[in-house]
Amino acid sequence: MINLKNKVTLVTGGSRGIGRAVCLLFAGAGSDVIINYRSDRRSAADVRKEAEKLGVRAFEMPADVSDKKQVDAMVETAIREFGKIDVLVNNAGIWKYHPIDEMTDVELKETLDINLLGSFYAAMAVVPHMKERKSGVIINISSTAGQRGEAYHSPYAASKGAVISLTKSLAAELAEYNIRVNCVAPGWVETDISRDALSSEQSGDILRQIPLGRVASPEEIAGPVLFLASDLAGFVTGEILNANGGAVLCG
Ligand code: NAP
Repeated sequence: MINLKNKVTLVTGGSRGIGRAVCLLFAGAGSDVIINYRSDRRSAADVRKEAEKLGVRAFEMPADVSDKKQVDAMVETAIREFGKIDVLVNNAGIWKYHPIDEMTDVELKETLDINLLGSFYAAMAVVPHMKERKSGVIINISSTAGQRGEAYHSPYAASKGAVISLTKSLAAELAEYNIRVNCVAPGWVETDISRDALSSEQSGDILRQIPLGRVASPEEIAGPVLFLASDLAGFVTGEILNANGGAVLCG
C-alpha cells in the first residue's frame, strides 16, 4: 500500500546503519534517494548501487551536517538535480562516552553540533522549498536517551531530547503549509554506533531492559520511518514514534 513513486527523499547519514536501511526501504517503495554521508564514501556508493538496482534514481552527497554552509550547498545541489525534496530524514548522529567531569568543551559541542544543529540546518535549508510547494515531510531520529536521559552520555541525551522539542515545534509551525514533522525514537539497534556496547560485558544488562528481549535491526527502525513518510500517516504530525522493543513505555 505504500507507494512513494515520484517522491524524492534526502537521508542524512544514509551511508550506514539506520540511514542505509531507510534509503533502501524508501527506494523499494519507489522513492528516489539522496544519500548524505560525511566521510565513508565507499559505503555511500554501495547504498547508491543497491538503491539503483531497485529501479530508482540515487545520488550520494558528502556534507558534514554540523556545517551550515555544507548543508545549504547539499540541499541546493539536490534540488537542482532532482527538482524537489519531498521527504527529509534527519538521521545523521554520533553517540560517544562523555562523563560530565571528563569531557571537553570541544567534545560537548561536537555532539550538539552534529545531532542537534545538524537537524536544524537541514530543516532550515529544505523548509523554504517545502513551503513554496505547500508539501513536505520531515522525520527526525531521536532516541530513548532523549526521553529518559542516559548516564555518561549527557550531551547525546540532551541533543536527542532537544530533537523531540524541535519536532513538536516545527510540527505546530509548519502544519499550515501542509508540512508534517514527526520523530522516530529507536532503542538499541545493531549498527556501528552500538557494536562495542552490544558486544561488551554490559550486553546482558542491556537485553534485560528490553521487554522484547533483543535489539532491533536497522530495518525495524526504517519501517516506522517509512510509515510516517507515507500517506497512511497523512493526519500524523508532531508525534514521537518509539521503536524500542518496549524499553521506554512512553509516547
Ligand atoms: P551509524 O551506523 O554509526 O551511522 C551513522 C551515520 O551518520 C553514517 O552514515 C555517518 O556517515 C553519518 N554521520 C555521522 N556524523 C555525520 C556528520 N557530521 N555529517 C553527516 N553525516 C554524519 O549510526 P546509526 O546507529 O545508524 O545511527 C543513526 C541515528 O540513529 C543516529 O542519529 C543515532 O543517534 C540514532 N540512534 C541509534 C541507535 C542505535 O542503537 N544504533 C539508538 C537510538 C538512536 P559516514 O558513513 O560518512 O561516517
